[in-house]
Amino acid sequence: MARLAVYGAISTLLAGAVIANAFAQRSNFYAACIYLYRSNACMMIILNLGLFLTIIAGQLVQIIFFGNLRTLEVEHLYERAWYAVTETCLAMTIFKDEFDTRFVVMFTVLLFLKVFHWLCMDRVDSMEQSPEIPLSFHVRMVTMIAMLVSLDVLLVYHAVNIVTLKGPNMMIMFGFEYTLLATSLMASFGKYVLHTIDMRTEDPWENKSMLLFYLDLVADFVKLVTYLLFFMVILVCYGLPLHIIRDVYMTMRSFLQKCKDLIQYRKATRNMNERYPDASPAELAALSDPICIICREEMVGHHSNAPAGQNAAGTTAPAPAAAGAQQQARPASNTRPTGSSTNVPKKLPCGHIFHFHCLKSWLERQQSCPTW
Ligand SMILES: [Zn+2]
Ligand SMILES: [Zn+2]
Repeated sequence: MARLAVYGAISTLLAGAVIANAFAQRSNFYAACIYLYRSNACMMIILNLGLFLTIIAGQLVQIIFFGNLRTLEVEHLYERAWYAVTETCLAMTIFKDEFDTRFVVMFTVLLFLKVFHWLCMDRVDSMEQSPEIPLSFHVRMVTMIAMLVSLDVLLVYHAVNIVTLKGPNMMIMFGFEYTLLATSLMASFGKYVLHTIDMRTEDPWENKSMLLFYLDLVADFVKLVTYLLFFMVILVCYGLPLHIIRDVYMTMRSFLQKCKDLIQYRKATRNMNERYPDASPAELAALSDPICIICREEMVGHHSNAPAGQNAAGTTAPAPAAAGAQQQARPASNTRPTGSSTNVPKKLPCGHIFHFHCLKSWLERQQSCPTW
C-alpha cells in the first residue's frame, strides 16, 4: 500500500510537471496538447499516470464489488495474469508492425477487464462451498456481470467496426479476446443462476450437476468455434498463427474430453445401483472413521430399507449379526427406487466407500476413484 502511494505521488508529480511545462511553453490549450502528444517522454509520463489511475480504479471496483479477496483468488489472479501476458507477447509476433501506444493501452484495458471476469468466475465457483449467500452478494454479482458483459459486447462491436473500416489489424485479436471473455462470463452467469435456484430449494437437486456439465459443454463449444474462427481469420490475413495452434488444440481437447466424459458418465451411471454394491455395516465399521471424503459427512449403514422381517431389531447400532442380515438383504435392496437410496454408502471395486449421491456427482466430473 505504501509503495503504491509513493508510486502514485511520483506519477502525479511527474505528470503535473510535464503538463504545467507544456502550458507554460505554449500559448493555448490546443498547442499544449499537440506538444504533449508529439513528445514521447511526455506521453510515457502521462500514460504512466493513466496506469496508476487504472490501478486505483481497479482497487475501488474490487472493494465495492468483491470486498476482500481470498488468498486463493489472489493466487489465481497472478497465475492467470501471468498466462495472459505471455499469451499476448506471443500474439504480438503477429501484430509486431502495429505495436504502439494504442496497443499498450488496449492491452491494459483488456487485462484490467479480464481481472474482474476472473474474479466473478471464482466467486460463482465458490458459491457451492458457502452455506449462506447474503443478498449483497447477489446484487454485486448481477451488477458486475451485467456491466462486464455489456462492456465485452460493446468492445467486440467496436473491434468489428474498426476492422471493417480499416482492414485487418490488431483489433481482430481484441475482438476475439472479448468474445471469449463474454462466453466464459455468460457460462458463469448460468452457473450462478443454477446455484441460486439450488439454494432456494430444500431438497438436493439431483440434476444440477448435469445441467452444470451441459453448460460447460456448450461454453466450450462456443469457445472452440470462436478459436477456430480466429485461427482462420489470422491464417487468411497474416499467415499461419503459430501461437494460437496451442489454444485451438487445448480447447479442442477440452471439448472432446468433455464429450468423452459425457459418454463415459452415461455408461458409468446407467446402472450404478447394480454395479456398485452397498457397503455393509461391517465394512463401514472396519473403516477408521466412516466419513465420506466427498461430502465430509458420516456414512451410516442403510438399514431402514431392508425388509422389515429380517432386520426389525437391527435399526440401532450395526451389530455384526445385523451386518449379515444386511448382506443377505442386498439383492432385494438393489431393486428399491433410487430416490430413497441417495445416501446409501456404495463400495467401489477398489474398496473405497462413498455415499451414493456423492459418488454419482463425482462420476459426473471424473470417472476414477476420488481417493487418488
Ligand atoms: Zn457423501
Ligand atoms: Zn478407491
